[in-house]
Amino acid sequence: MRAAVVREFNEDLSIETVEDPKCPDNGVVLKVAACGVCRSDFHGWVGGHLKVINGSIMGHEYCGTVVEAGAQAKHKVGDKLIAPFILGCGDCPACQVGASNTCESAVVPGFGAPGAYAEFVAVPFDHNLVHLPETMSPALAAGLGCRVTTAWHALTDRANVCAGEWVAVHGTGGIGLSALLLAKMLGAQVVVVDVVQEKLDQALSLGADAAVNASTQDVPAAIIEITGGGAQVSLEALGISQTTNASVECLATLGRHVHVGMPAGDGRMEVNMRAIYSKQLAFYGTRGMPSWKYPSLLSMIERGQVDLTPMLDRVVPLSGASAELRAMKGPTRPGTAVITDFSK
Ligand SMILES: [Zn+2]
Ligand SMILES: [Zn+2]
Repeated sequence: MRAAVVREFNEDLSIETVEDPKCPDNGVVLKVAACGVCRSDFHGWVGGHLKVINGSIMGHEYCGTVVEAGAQAKHKVGDKLIAPFILGCGDCPACQVGASNTCESAVVPGFGAPGAYAEFVAVPFDHNLVHLPETMSPALAAGLGCRVTTAWHALTDRANVCAGEWVAVHGTGGIGLSALLLAKMLGAQVVVVDVVQEKLDQALSLGADAAVNASTQDVPAAIIEITGGGAQVSLEALGISQTTNASVECLATLGRHVHVGMPAGDGRMEVNMRAIYSKQLAFYGTRGMPSWKYPSLLSMIERGQVDLTPMLDRVVPLSGASAELRAMKGPTRPGTAVITDFSK
């Protein structure tokens, strides 16, 4: 099959013919219909993720059709499925209490197992996968497994956002846009932060109540002014020190910081602990979403309670993934890119 393989960090992915994946006994092989290009792929591409090395195939935001099913697979050939990016084992205590996104035996294609920047991907633990709604395009669906599920879990199960609260969203990439749209659905007021005015304008047109341009404004001061004393919830979607500090500093007393952005490298950064201490903030880490919550989230999307189509900006061929990754070295365009053509 054709695949985009990491050979050298910061260099174009190498389009190669590699061996077709073997079907796991406890899972399926999908013919990939679409795969999103995510900022965590960027971290891998620059050498900032331990599990992305020479020979890795990235791609963790995918959907596709089952072409082969293992003896113990839950799904069958022909099923059109979407995957959450963390595939919990289903048997351990974490999975059994419904926290499969914290499963220590979880498999994440794209990080440690071959991902979906390829024509086919092997997916073990296919009980995590759910059927793609008829009305949803594969390109849109491909963005759901990572960004939308992550944002939904962060807002609901971690920060417990309530209607009327102010939510600050730092970074308006895939996660940030999802968080904006979902927080509005929950009845919150949302202030978005970015360094690209075009992305802020887009966020405002999608319902953001206020926008702060971090390249020209003092972010915490601006948010405290806009919200009349600070946000109740602040979501950090980049994984860097500047936005993490802006996030804790823009919160009101007893506010909740939710850390969504994957920190690069060894993850250490300087954080304003005085803000956390004196305002008695809560600091939540979050990663992914337990897969059992997927059907209810898809159902809300399918019934039109939230329109996520603005998230998808462009579709690219497999050979176009490198340019998308390279573009993340600087300020990026609004919306996300999804690979839909694996033949070139
Ligand atoms: Zn992702
Ligand atoms: Zn497990």
